[in-house]
Amino acid sequence: MIRERAYPVDPWHIRETRLDLDLLAQSESVFALANGHIGIRGNLDEGEPHGLPGTYLNSFYELRPLPYAEAGYGFPESGQTMVNVTNAKLMRLLVDDEPFDVRYGELRSHERVLDLRAGTLERTVEWVSPSGQAIRVRTVRLVSFTQRSVVAFLYEVEPLDGPSRLILQSELVANEQLPPMSKDPRVAAVLDHPLQSEEVLEQRTGGLLVHRTKASDLRMAAAMEHLVDTPGKHAVTTEGHPDWLRTTVACKLEPGQKLRVVKLAAYGWSSHRSLPAVRDQVGAALASARLDGWEGLVEAQRDYLDAFWDHSDVKVEGDPEVQQAVRFGLFHTLQAGARAEQRPIGSKGLSGPGYDGHTFWDAESFVLPALTYTQPSAAADVLRWRHSTLDLARERAQTLGLQGAAFPWRTIRGQECSAYWPAGTAGFHIGADIADAVRRYVQATGDYDFEREVGLELLVETARLWRSLGHHDRHGRFHIDGVTGPDEYTAVVNDNIYTNLMAQQNFMAAADAAKRHPDLARKLGVDDEETAGWRDAAAAVHIPYDRELGVHQQSEGFTRLQEWDFEATPPEAYPLLLNYPYFDLYRKQVVKQADLVMAMYIRGDAFTPEEKARNFAYYDARTVRDSSLSACVQAVLAAETGHLELAHDYLGEAALMDLHDLHQNSRDGLHIASLAGTWISLVAGLGGMRDFNGQLSFAPRLPSRINNLEFSLLWRGLRLRVNVTADEVTYSLRNGGGSARLVINHHGKDVEVTQVKPVTVPIPPPHPVGPAPIQPQGRAPVRRMTS
Ligand code: BGC
Repeated sequence: MIRERAYPVDPWHIRETRLDLDLLAQSESVFALANGHIGIRGNLDEGEPHGLPGTYLNSFYELRPLPYAEAGYGFPESGQTMVNVTNAKLMRLLVDDEPFDVRYGELRSHERVLDLRAGTLERTVEWVSPSGQAIRVRTVRLVSFTQRSVVAFLYEVEPLDGPSRLILQSELVANEQLPPMSKDPRVAAVLDHPLQSEEVLEQRTGGLLVHRTKASDLRMAAAMEHLVDTPGKHAVTTEGHPDWLRTTVACKLEPGQKLRVVKLAAYGWSSHRSLPAVRDQVGAALASARLDGWEGLVEAQRDYLDAFWDHSDVKVEGDPEVQQAVRFGLFHTLQAGARAEQRPIGSKGLSGPGYDGHTFWDAESFVLPALTYTQPSAAADVLRWRHSTLDLARERAQTLGLQGAAFPWRTIRGQECSAYWPAGTAGFHIGADIADAVRRYVQATGDYDFEREVGLELLVETARLWRSLGHHDRHGRFHIDGVTGPDEYTAVVNDNIYTNLMAQQNFMAAADAAKRHPDLARKLGVDDEETAGWRDAAAAVHIPYDRELGVHQQSEGFTRLQEWDFEATPPEAYPLLLNYPYFDLYRKQVVKQADLVMAMYIRGDAFTPEEKARNFAYYDARTVRDSSLSACVQAVLAAETGHLELAHDYLGEAALMDLHDLHQNSRDGLHIASLAGTWISLVAGLGGMRDFNGQLSFAPRLPSRINNLEFSLLWRGLRLRVNVTADEVTYSLRNGGGSARLVINHHGKDVEVTQVKPVTVPIPPPHPVGPAPIQPQGRAPVRRMTS
């Protein structure tokens, strides 16, 4: 785990002031740069030492067999693993024949700074070689938001004490060797030499490599070019081999003189296009990068981020650590999705290989809520990608003997890749999560073209799945049996309440959308009988409840199961999945992550305030948060049920998941759901924002240490700003002109906001609440009040 304050608190930067080789892999994730299309880990420029080298292209994967000791019908036969593609980060330096390597000689200083407004990672090093030559190196890198295929590096080096001969070797390297895999199921499979060379082109100042994967048959190209600036004599040469290309810059410098090299790199890939087409594509991307040059790319990056922060920033006063972490989280959320452009958002974004680079419900249920209200086009793109995989999901439903579409629990390209069906195929709720994301997007943007092109079909096909998966019993109740809800420590259950409530909403959303677009619905084969069937099922959905305890059941019979012995579970036994068999976890009341609590957030309209309070206390006491998807949702319900200090604690946990490496696996990549979830904790938690039935509502209340919270939302093209203090809230519109008005609900009362007239309203005094819920022994979140 990264000890507290590994990165000093700073509102806009993540600064590492000294290099700790034991934390290298974690820092590579924290310092990863991406734009949703390309991702590069924060590896040191010279490549070594490293934790995990990594360069990724969204959806560029290799197939690998999924071996089963005991296979069964319908088990997926092959998995997909994100490929570590050709590395363009490598820039090795030799100082008077000695390789610059931080493990040798003397490292006088080493600083890396991720600048959240500039979108760059800067590194400054002073190093003395083993033979006594001192140098200063400054490097800056960016993955361009504006030029989607471009990565750029600035490398500056100067001798400090005496004249020096410097050789800079800048490379493209394919098929890098990766460290061996651990036994943790959350890490990735290691592919051995996944790339086959197709073409090498070397020119004086750069060149390109084209490769192709063996089984998935995808082609990629990486190209580079160097702009060298140095006084006096220097030589530039390039040589190429099937798996590597090297441009060498040689020069001699006096103290005070500098070698400055700008490396421009471009990536492209395709499953269909020919070799010349892909090669030309990266050539064009390089030409475009050259046109702007380093300064132009840096400026465009800053402008892009200025616009992003202007409408997405969340300001938190009173907890500077959380303030920094929220921006860090928003930055990485943007990096995961900004330019994904009809490709998925993986659970690690493009920051590391964890979970094989797969996308899960994390995207629709955690990342999209934040993107819908800040970068709606990126949210729409993810759903367009889901839509593009509908045929595969229909095929999967057919294999399973179901109707409609069964979306994969985890995938890159669209096929189910989970080899463990109780926590894979049985996680059918993914379909309703996609439907919920469609509903939210259309409602928040009013983008009915999207609903016609993409949304309706997704809603219809997911509703069809529920209709065929569930059944009416002899009393007419609608049940969905044999499924796994979000809590992966309770699998293959009947009537998981989250699944049932989400399916209910899915039915209604599909029926309503079909009514809005009758012509299109008819084309999809939807008739009145079908929509009536959906509405009937929705009205009859079974909601398991334990009358004796006065709480809902996470699934039928859950509250009757044996309790988990938390007192006998030592701290080192967490996460339980690595230390206890699933059979034992499944038959006891131990909850991995927010499940019923998640239902009370997304389907909060289905519970009374009293039910929420009782349910939250019951389930919080049994939830161990072994999934990073938990804390942010628990923050929301803690806030809603009046436990504001606990909400603050959970907010802190969600926000610091990666900056403090709380789950001790940030090395494999960042927890994008938790980072985006920080936004959820603040906006839906402390801000109390909900969007039930087309009505935007807020119920803000701050914990004692946070004295001001400000955030902005996009609602149907209007920019709403919400500024919360301890006693009052100001709602203002930032655009729309004189005629724009927005009616929102504030703590149960309608309030009209116009651009000319911000509205300030008091926060009503809180209702009395009982004692805060107690978490399982040893699992309480770190207290923010004392941290
Ligand atoms: C969680 C899932 C999540 C996955 C990827 C698992 O540990 O239980 O809910 O989708 O990680 O983040």
